[in-house]
Amino acid sequence: MIQIKDLHKSYQMGSNSLHVLKGIDFNVKQGELVSIMGSSGSGKSTLLNILGMLDEADLGSYTLDNVPIKNLNEKVAAQYRNKFLGFIFQSFNLINYKNALDNVSMPLYYQGMKRKERTDKALHYLEKVGLADWATHLPSELSGGQKQRVAIARALASDPKVLLADEPTGALDTKTSYEVMELIQGINDEGKTILVVTHEPDIAEMTKRIVNLKDGRIIDDRPVKQILAKHHV
Ligand code: ADP
Ligand code: MG
Repeated sequence: MIQIKDLHKSYQMGSNSLHVLKGIDFNVKQGELVSIMGSSGSGKSTLLNILGMLDEADLGSYTLDNVPIKNLNEKVAAQYRNKFLGFIFQSFNLINYKNALDNVSMPLYYQGMKRKERTDKALHYLEKVGLADWATHLPSELSGGQKQRVAIARALASDPKVLLADEPTGALDTKTSYEVMELIQGINDEGKTILVVTHEPDIAEMTKRIVNLKDGRIIDDRPVKQILAKHHV
């Protein structure tokens, strides 16, 4: 699903250059649930943003579902992003003045889907994350865990090939974090490929493979015996 070879990324700050990714080699097969671990500043978000086509590498290659991701213009990149990728963020990134249903259905609008189909689909995914009764509520009326569930429903609604989650439990208490991980594990069990960035070892152990980043390099990449979140919620 994902093939990355010798990826490099630097940030330019005035006359200084910060070399953040220093040659990343990394493949992900369809159906994997992978965590990317590392301390703050190790380059996790930079890597995830490149995988998410929100940013581009300076060097190296990236292939997503057999499509080489290179020198795409913004319009084509946006199309691929919509078609291939779903995003989940630490801070949920919901639109505050839109209710849960509209937050989930909005990306479908941009795909040109008709209103009825959009609404049906959004309701289906809200149901899937256990929030059917909250469809008409604004984000401000939802708990942190519920907001993240809405964000997950939104990410799933366009049936992406890969879900990319950057610290999805970073703003949640432990119990709520494990509930969100239980949901993520369930989605993975249905076959979805998922990458989770986290700096929390207990969250990483709920995935099936842990990739450890340090100072822009992968220092460890191994399968783990998955801890089931439902035993801990
Ligand atoms: P992580 O997600 O592991 O905490 P990041 O990928 O966000 O790490 O950041 C890696 C390094 O790159 C950090 O030192 C950070 O300050 C720097 N960095 C991240 N984004 C930018 C940017 N847009 N401009 C300049 N430096 C950045
Ligand atoms: Mg980060």
